[in-house]
Amino acid sequence: MNTPHITIIGAGLGGLTLARVLHIHRIPATVYEAEPAPTARAQGGILDIHDYNGQLAIEAAGLMDQFRDIILHGHQAMRILAPDGTVLFDKADDGNGGRPEVQRGDLRQMLLDSLPVGAVQWGRKVVSTRSLGEGHHEVIFADGGTSTTSLLVGADGAWSRVRPLLSDATPEYTGMSYVETYLFDVDTRHPAAAQAVGSGSMAAPAAGGKGIQAQREKGGTIHTYVVLREPQEWFDAIDFTDGAAAAARIAKEFDGWAPELTALITDGDVPPLLRPLFALPLGHKWERVPGVTLLGDAAHLLTPNGEGANSAMYDGAELAKAIAAHPGDIEAALTQYEEAMFPRSAEFGSIGAELHDLDDADAVAGLIKLYTESGN
Ligand SMILES: Cc1cc2nc3c(=O)[nH]c(=O)nc-3n(C[C@H](O)[C@H](O)[C@H](O)COP(=O)(O)OP(=O)(O)OC[C@H]3O[C@@H](n4cnc5c(N)ncnc54)[C@H](O)[C@@H]3O)c2cc1C
Repeated sequence: MNTPHITIIGAGLGGLTLARVLHIHRIPATVYEAEPAPTARAQGGILDIHDYNGQLAIEAAGLMDQFRDIILHGHQAMRILAPDGTVLFDKADDGNGGRPEVQRGDLRQMLLDSLPVGAVQWGRKVVSTRSLGEGHHEVIFADGGTSTTSLLVGADGAWSRVRPLLSDATPEYTGMSYVETYLFDVDTRHPAAAQAVGSGSMAAPAAGGKGIQAQREKGGTIHTYVVLREPQEWFDAIDFTDGAAAAARIAKEFDGWAPELTALITDGDVPPLLRPLFALPLGHKWERVPGVTLLGDAAHLLTPNGEGANSAMYDGAELAKAIAAHPGDIEAALTQYEEAMFPRSAEFGSIGAELHDLDDADAVAGLIKLYTESGN
């Protein structure tokens, strides 16, 4: 029996890595993606790609040269600031950090460019999936179309439509939200904020997991994540359609902080964006179900800790390698993949979790320890 044509739902970093590594092994796959086109949504954000997971996936995908071309040199610099703007920790990017930074959009495009034409079907939103028995599944699309498959992979993120075939778990609000802002052309238009953030990442933590984190992106942009631990109702009371008022309300939580830090909230060049954070239980797993599995956020969505995209790519590469290593025996491949993925995702997911409930001094010490030990 040959390896079946593989159906992957979701063209995020995890699903595309899977498709690419399968392609290298000459195993055909189709990726069905809800978005109408690769450019449909801005793929904002910088990702640091770790040498113990994300980079291994890129190696398995045979794309190390292309990856080196998209690295943002100098962006591994890291600093920690006190609320009054005092620099508590400052580490330059010496090029040896093991965690090169790239724009998420560039990484996704690199993977898309590595796939055969037609491997990704855009505008194919999955509304549901169902078992047809004996390892076969039907995928039902919003456009009314259907597809049947004997190997279905859910790489469709937090609100996966494939996950219900395997597990009753649904993501729950973590009690924490990000408010995202962007400052453009910072060296000219926002010099004080630009100086506070430096050439890479900056974190200004406060008690109980609250804080301001910012990253310098390509082209003089600073992308800020304001971290707040409040219930969803607290955010419901803020009118995010009025950008200036929402920014002022969020900045009020940082009264008395240095103006170059609060400017990251109040001086945004686009309205602030609320991003409530949801998670699956740490250690989420399921019993083996023939013909279907999950990877990335669909399998183990967690509070962002710098591991999610790395983990999703690693899952994709590991699943492809397991399929290639078991020609004609998909169940053996899925068993091998899941048995390694469950403990691995629990381990990656717990990195940094202890930082959320610390007081100011411990949070700073904890962050420094994390950055020093991780080689960032
Ligand atoms: C604010 C924030 C910051 C983060 N920062 C980092 C970081 O610095 N480093 C890091 O490693 N991780 C980070 N993460 C986590 C990381 O973004 C995710 O873990 C990662 O994107 C998961 O990849 P994935 O391929 O599993 O899913 P996704 O990236 O979510 O991709 C899923 C794909 O499936 C598609 N899709 C969804 N539903 C359907 C459907 N019904 N039908 C068809 N297609 C569908 C989506 O459109 C999407 O293209 C961050 C997360 C957030 C929220």
